[in-house]
Amino acid sequence: MPIQEFNVINLKTLNRFFLGNSVGETLIFNKMGCDQCGKYINVEIQKTSGGYGFLNGVISEPLNEKILALCCNCNGFRDSK
Ligand SMILES: [Zn+2]
Repeated sequence: MPIQEFNVINLKTLNRFFLGNSVGETLIFNKMGCDQCGKYINVEIQKTSGGYGFLNGVISEPLNEKILALCCNCNGFRDSK
């Protein structure tokens, strides 16, 4: 699938996922298969004071209740730190 069709999860959805969670808390999406290379990754999303930080990769907006993932080798959206 071309990377252009991958819609990174937006702030509104992240806010919904993190509802009630405070800064510093992390959500982990285990064993997500990278949409491009197929590698299995555990995507961690941490709530920060300025927004959200992604580790190991990024996830997409839920599409038909399915969430896709891209590992840090395949995503060109942001650095994983
Ligand atoms: Zn990948």
